[in-house]
Amino acid sequence: MLIDADLRRRGLRDSVSIDLFTAEPGPMGVAGPEATAAVRGMVEAKGIAYHPEHQVTRVDAATRRLFFANGVEAGFDLLVHVPPIRPPRVVVDAGLTGPTGWVEVDRHTLDTRFPGVYAIGDVTAIPLAMGKPLPKAGVFAHGQAEVVARNIAMSIAGHGAAVRFDGHGACFVEAGGGRAGFGSGDFYAEPRPAVLMRRPRRMWHAGKVLFEKHWFWRWL
Ligand SMILES: Cc1cc2nc3c(=O)[nH]c(=O)nc-3n(C[C@H](O)[C@H](O)[C@H](O)COP(=O)(O)OP(=O)(O)OC[C@H]3O[C@@H](n4cnc5c(N)ncnc54)[C@H](O)[C@@H]3O)c2cc1C
Repeated sequence: MLIDADLRRRGLRDSVSIDLFTAEPGPMGVAGPEATAAVRGMVEAKGIAYHPEHQVTRVDAATRRLFFANGVEAGFDLLVHVPPIRPPRVVVDAGLTGPTGWVEVDRHTLDTRFPGVYAIGDVTAIPLAMGKPLPKAGVFAHGQAEVVARNIAMSIAGHGAAVRFDGHGACFVEAGGGRAGFGSGDFYAEPRPAVLMRRPRRMWHAGKVLFEKHWFWRWL
């Protein structure tokens, strides 16, 4: 959507086609069918063709061809590709990963099966009641980090109350043109996550800019 916005700004959109290929059946599937329909609608309203269930198996840079597991092929002039996400080698070699290929943790304390060892963020696999794992998102890595840090501090200090990660999270969905959507909710809710997706507005984009500025200011 940001590429779409940039091409419109430069008056080039009519001469460019944008296709979005993804392995997933729909965007933000874990957030439920309403969120999926809302995000897919945002993308398609911009004239971007959305192709779900297309797992890339090979890219031929010389001929600029994409090959998918379902036998489909597509050409491209510019490819914007998110590479496969996998745990760092050192984590696998240390024996921290389990049958899922990721580090299994207690969903509330982030304890691994090794006493005193915690894992947070993308390297973890946290199954949800609806059958999909908790999405890999910065907002969860952040929330989990605060829980683990507080509990370690508490165990050293010997006082205070233990805290638990509760699966709440929120994210902005940049829609281009100075607008963003905003999804938030309880991803641990059962039988499926309770997530509300707000349609793109300038206010949410401004919120994202402020959010980013806040953390740069606090940390850097
Ligand atoms: C295209 C894209 C868009 C995204 N958009 C969003 C979004 O809008 N909102 C959101 O919440 N999340 C988003 N995410 C997800 C978010 O970026 C991740 O969930 C988050 O960064 C995970 O944080 P982490 O600390 O677990 O892992 P990382 O951020 O991957 O940090 C792991 C670090 O470990 C380092 N490392 C690896 N191996 C070693 C080693 N052997 N020795 C030392 N260091 C090592 C890596 O270099 C890296 O810096 C997006 C991700 C992608 C790819």
